[in-house]
Amino acid sequence: MDRECLDSVRELLTTRKGQLVKLIQEQREEMGTIQSSRSPDWIDLTAATENIHLLMTLGDSERRELDDIEIALAKITDGSYGGCEGCGQAISPDRLEAKPTARLCKECKQQEEATLKPSGPDYSVGWRAIEQDPSLLAGAEDGSQNR
Ligand SMILES: [Zn+2]
Repeated sequence: MDRECLDSVRELLTTRKGQLVKLIQEQREEMGTIQSSRSPDWIDLTAATENIHLLMTLGDSERRELDDIEIALAKITDGSYGGCEGCGQAISPDRLEAKPTARLCKECKQQEEATLKPSGPDYSVGWRAIEQDPSLLAGAEDGSQNR
């Protein structure tokens, strides 16, 4: 990956990082408001706890993204950006464009997903068949209308 490309990725990631930091700060402030407005009423307390839980969950995914961005930025600095952590091959520019924080190439990511996937019936197969042949869905709809 050339210098110019890296600079634009760095800029993109830095902008996103700024947005995330702001978002997390806002969430933190909101959590503070919920906590300070806590009343002794049990129903309110439950609602407040649920809100805090929700905010923490939201914060989690943003913090994770922030971590990914930090890692990507560190890699740009040390020159290892764009390399797959699994096989060491270069990650395709298409993939990096779609997900600048990608740490694995397409093949390694697929392999990782295959390993992580729980065993059991693959329900997505049905959808894939419909994607390939949308008339399957149309047929099913016609069938139910006739019944
Ligand atoms: Zn790989």
